[in-house]
Amino acid sequence: MASQHAQTAAQPSASFDADAVSTAYQSALEVIEAVEPGVATAIRSELSDQRASLKLIASENYASPAVLLAMGTWLSDKYAEGTVGHRFYSGCQNVDTVEQIAADHAQALFAAPHAYVQPHSGIDANLVAFWAILAHRVEAPALAELGANHVNDLTDDDWEALRRRLGNQRALGMALDAGGHLTHGFRPNISGKMFHQASYGTDAQTGLLDYAEVAARAREFRPLVLIAGYSAYPRKINFAIMREIADEVGATLMVDMAHFAGLVAGKVFTGDFDPVPFAHVTTTTTHKSLRGPRGGVVLCQPDYAEAVDRGCPLVLGGPLGHVIAAKAVALAEARQPSFQRYAQQVADNAVALADGLLSRGARLVTGGTDNHLVLLDVSTFGLTGRQAESALLDSGIVTNRNSIPRDPNGAWYTTGVRLGTPALTSRGFGAGDLDRVAELIVGVLAATSPAAAPSGGASKARYVLADGVADRTHAAVGELLAQHPLYPGLDLG
Ligand code: PLP
Repeated sequence: MASQHAQTAAQPSASFDADAVSTAYQSALEVIEAVEPGVATAIRSELSDQRASLKLIASENYASPAVLLAMGTWLSDKYAEGTVGHRFYSGCQNVDTVEQIAADHAQALFAAPHAYVQPHSGIDANLVAFWAILAHRVEAPALAELGANHVNDLTDDDWEALRRRLGNQRALGMALDAGGHLTHGFRPNISGKMFHQASYGTDAQTGLLDYAEVAARAREFRPLVLIAGYSAYPRKINFAIMREIADEVGATLMVDMAHFAGLVAGKVFTGDFDPVPFAHVTTTTTHKSLRGPRGGVVLCQPDYAEAVDRGCPLVLGGPLGHVIAAKAVALAEARQPSFQRYAQQVADNAVALADGLLSRGARLVTGGTDNHLVLLDVSTFGLTGRQAESALLDSGIVTNRNSIPRDPNGAWYTTGVRLGTPALTSRGFGAGDLDRVAELIVGVLAATSPAAAPSGGASKARYVLADGVADRTHAAVGELLAQHPLYPGLDLG
C-alpha cells in the first residue's frame, strides 16, 4: 500500500507518495548505475549526507520530490533560444508550455507585471537585469540620439561611443561586509566592470540599514541603478523608501530578493517590505527560501519587459527546459496555503534561534532577526568565523562563516557565522527545536579556543575543541534529526 508522507503544520512541504518516489529513484539509479556506477553512488551518498547533517546554511533548502523529478527529463534535450512562441528553433511547443506555466505562476505568486523564468541562477538573473536596465536606460536613448533605429545601423565610431556609455554607468549597492552580494557592482565580479560602484553600509551602533545615509549616498553619487537586497543582512528592508530614494535621483531600483523570495511568496513580507511593486526590476534565485530547483527569475515592470526577454541569447545560454519545468512545479507549490505556513515558520524559527542564542549570552549583528537568517558575531567567544565554522562542523552542525560589518578579520577568516532556517524548517523543525540548536551551538563555541599558529602567535584558523564535546553534540544532533527525517519514507533500496 502506498505510504503517504503526512503533512503537518510544522512540516508543510508538499506531501508525497513515498513508495512511488522510492520506486522512481530506485529504477532511475539502476539505469544510471549500469552506465557510470560512480555517479549513482555519489547520488546515494548525497542523500545520506544531507539526511545526517544539521543544515543551517541560509541559502540552501530541500526541494520536494516533484520538483526534483521534474528536472530529470528529455526537456533537457531541446534547444529553445528566444521566448514563448518566438523561438530561434522549431519544435519548441512543449518548452513553450512549461515556460508559460512557470511564468504565469511567477506572475501570479508575486503579483508581478512580467516574469522571465529562463536565468540559470541568481547571478545570471542579475546579469540579465543589468543588461536590460542598460539597454532600456542607455542603449535605446543613445541609439535615438545617434540617429539609429538598431545597433546594426551603427558605424564603428558610433559603437565606440555606445560602448563608452554602456560601460560608464554608476551603481549603488549594499556594502559586502554589510551583507550585500558580489554581483551588486563589486570588483572582481563583472558587475564591477560594467558599473562604477559605490556602496552604502549599515549604522555602526545598531547594525541596521540607515535610509538617510542611503539617500545621501544616492544624492552624491547619482547612480543609474540603486540596488537593494542582500545575502547576509538579518532584517527586512523598506522598499517604499528605497523607491523614493531611487525616484529622487532618477535611478532604476533593482532588488535582488534571492535570499528572501520565499518570505515574499509566503506573504511574510508584505506592504512596504514586498519589493515587487516598488522595484523596476526584481531578481531572485529559485532554490533558497523559495525551495525550488537551482535557478533564477527576473520580474519587472512592463517597460523593462522587452529588454529582459532578450536575456537569451544576449546574456544567457539556451534555456534549460527541464529546470524551467521544475521551477513551474516549485512555483505551483509556493502558491499553496501550506507554503505560507512554511514561510511563517521559517521566520518564527529564525526568531527562536536568535532568542536562544541571545539568552545564552551570544552577540548577534542587529541584535536579532526579522527574516530567515541570523548573523552571529563570534568575537565574544574569542574566535574567528573560520574557527567557529570548523568547530561546529566537527560537531555535526553545518554553517558558513561570514563577514560582519567592519569585520576586523577580513573576508577570508571573518568574525561572523551565518545561520539560516529554511532547510531545517522544510524538515519540520519547530521553534523548540531551534532553541535546542542554539543551546548546542553555544555549547560548542564556548568549548572552543584558538590554538597557536605553527609560527607562534594566535592562529585565525586553528582551534581546540574540549574533549568529548564534538561527540556529545553529534549525538544530540542525531536525536534532533531523527525526530525530523528528510524525505521520510524515501528508500533508495
Ligand atoms: N544574489 C544573492 C543576494 C545571493 O545571495 C546569491 C547567492 O548566494 C546570488 C545572487 C547568486 O545566486 P546563484 O548562486 O544562483 O548564482
